[in-house]
Order: sequence, then C-alpha cells, then structure tokens
Amino acid sequence: MNYFAGIDIGSTAIKIAITDENKSLVGHKISASGSMFYKYAQESLEALLSELNIDKKDVVYTVATGYGRKLFKEADENISEITANAIGARAAAKEYCDVKTIINIGGQDSKAISLDDDGNVTNFVMNDRCAAGTGKFLDACAMNLEINIDELGERHFQATGTPLSINSTCAVFAESEIIGLLGNNHSVEDIVCGVHYSIAKRIVKLVKRVGLKEGIYFDGGPALNKGLVHAIENEISRKIFIPQYPQITTSYGASIIGCESYMYQIKNAI
Ligand code: ADP
Repeated sequence: MNYFAGIDIGSTAIKIAITDENKSLVGHKISASGSMFYKYAQESLEALLSELNIDKKDVVYTVATGYGRKLFKEADENISEITANAIGARAAAKEYCDVKTIINIGGQDSKAISLDDDGNVTNFVMNDRCAAGTGKFLDACAMNLEINIDELGERHFQATGTPLSINSTCAVFAESEIIGLLGNNHSVEDIVCGVHYSIAKRIVKLVKRVGLKEGIYFDGGPALNKGLVHAIENEISRKIFIPQYPQITTSYGASIIGCESYMYQIKNAI
C-alpha cells in the first residue's frame, strides 16, 4: 500500500496526517513546533510512522504546508496553507455539509476563507498583525486566569449574566483589562466568556470581509474550545461545523494533494 504524508508546520504546533490511496486518513500526530521546526517535524513523522507500523519507503509523496513549510526540504512539494485548508475542510466535512466558508484560528493568526461551489478558494483575509483573536491570546488569558487552555470551553458555560466586554483591540492591553476585571472581583467564568465574545466579534468581522456563505467550517486548535464555538455561532447567527480533529484539517488537505500529485505523475509517466 502507498501512503501520503501532509506536514503542517504551524507557529505553535506541527500537525502530520497520513492518508492512503483512497485519501482516507489512517493516522495523525500533533506536537509542539518548538524552535527547531525541521528536526521536530522529522522526529514527529518518524514516531507517527512507527505507531502506525508503516515503513518510511511506503510513504511515496510528502507535501509540506504552513508557516515553516519551506524548512522541510524532504517534501516532494510545498503548498500554501490556504489551499491545503480548503481541500482538507471539504474532505473532512463531505458527509455533513458543503463547505463554503472556513474560519481558521491558529496560534499566531486567524483567517476567513471563502470557497466557490467547486471548492476553489475565491477570497481570503488574514489577521496576523495582532495577537488578539488568535490562539496565543487565548493561551495568555488562560495563563492569567490560572487555568489550562482546555478548561476554557467548560468555564464559558458556567458564566452568569451578560458576557463581560473586553474592549481593548490590542492583546497586550486586553490582558491588562482582564487583570483589572479580576481585581474588580469578576469571576474567572465571566471573564472567559467575555474573552470568547471579544474574539468571536473579531472573527465575524473577518468572515464578513470575505462574504458569509452557508456551510461554515471552523478549524485550528481554538476550534476545540466549545465556549468559543458557542460565542461565534451566537455572533454569526448560524450553526458551524467542527471536524473531529480540528487541528489537522490543513495537514489532511496537504496529504490529499500529495495523493493527487502522485497519481497524476504515475498516470503521465505511462
Ligand atoms: P498553528 O497552526 O498556528 O500552530 P494551531 O491550529 O495548532 O496553530 O492552534 C494552536 C492554538 O490552539 C493554541 O495556541 C491554543 O490556544 C489552542 N489549543 C490547543 N489545544 C487546545 C485545546 N485542547 N483546547 C482549546 N484550545 C486549544
């Protein structure tokens, strides 16, 4: 059996997806990007292949994507994360919805991507200038509130009353605002809920810039946060599809592109 690897080297995490010739996901791995992207990506790929009992030589095509993609020299191809995200999202959601709008929140940026009926990217906007509205901001909030990142979702639903407003547009000032709210005896839960709504409002603005279309897919690590999903759904007044593994959509898309490129090369070599 031939296998295809998609390696998404993000600012925060390295995500690897392995697919087979049917473009079905056979395994994935998420590890911290750290400071040595290439070394950690290689180690993570080897560990995943060993877990899956797949021989490295059976991985016949590798596509790298994401922030650090150009550093992964062993890849057969490297591709923009926008294209890989779009292909991965359509494939991951194919049994549930026809994806036309993608919201991606990563460690250091957030994006809204618009697709046409055939799945082609027609427009995208990215916020990579400011940490507010990114995973890093959520990490900093969790740290200031002394809770784990994976507790934010649950705490959101324990908030009481109207969500607090976090008005600062800069992540650094927003952090000071959060500390001020703690000083004014607001509960951690109410602050978490306020943070989620402040991010949701930013995301909805991004989505409106590309044009909101039904078939909304949300991915990236922060899509694991059910409180944030709830806030975005309320702000956008629509249901959003969250895949089973929100962090690996882009690497999954890259592995599908790898499968298609390989098949194309084989076909044209005959
Ligand atoms: P990148 O592609 O830029 O490396 P990711 O899509 O991997 O980013 O997202 C990283 C962010 O996801 C982290 O900064 C963190 O805020 C968030 N995250 C990671 N794991 C969880 C979790 N279990 N629950 C909620 N948020 C999470």
